[in-house]
Amino acid sequence: MNVSRRKFCLLLSIAPISANASSLVNLEDGSGLFSNGVPSTNHLRSVPKEDTNSVSRIPYMRKGLPRLIHAHTQETLELNRPNTIFEKRRLDYFLRDWRENEVQPIHNKLAAEFFEVCLRADQLGAGKKIWVHSGYRTKATNESLRLKNSNVATNSFHIRGKAIDFSIEGLSSNQVFELARSCSSGGVGGYSSFVHMDTGPRRSWTV
Ligand SMILES: [Zn+2]
Repeated sequence: MNVSRRKFCLLLSIAPISANASSLVNLEDGSGLFSNGVPSTNHLRSVPKEDTNSVSRIPYMRKGLPRLIHAHTQETLELNRPNTIFEKRRLDYFLRDWRENEVQPIHNKLAAEFFEVCLRADQLGAGKKIWVHSGYRTKATNESLRLKNSNVATNSFHIRGKAIDFSIEGLSSNQVFELARSCSSGGVGGYSSFVHMDTGPRRSWTV
């Protein structure tokens, strides 16, 4: 790590906390993440050290790749180079538990495999929109959802930031399911309107 990089990380670690960051951050271009020249990471939690190496393995994403759209918050996110801690943290924030506005670092392997799906979907000529239905969930949120939906597991991988539910414009659920299975080393579940992908044991199922 060179000096400027170290200084940048130091600034990240001492950034002040404010009450409500979500309305201040533009996930598209990152504006709002910096104020008065000082990086503000008030909406983020620290990322474990081992993330540095793992994030670098996330494939480079060229311009014009699909844009992530959160099905509930309507926020959008386009990652041009998700191989940096900065981009990883933007993804973590995007995939936060929006109900409780709580951020949890998304598992690096999940991030890498999810972006591999994005890349291949683009190569297949799919639409430019990838709808994210669910990312990280707090235990409280997961339990609340479980009481309404029998498909939600008690000890869901979503609680540990190791699962994502998504759909892709222009591809059927079955096509997304097969695409996810080809990229995932963990679990893939096919549902009527989305596909679940996690970093648990390798397995697949449809509902
Ligand atoms: Zn899921």
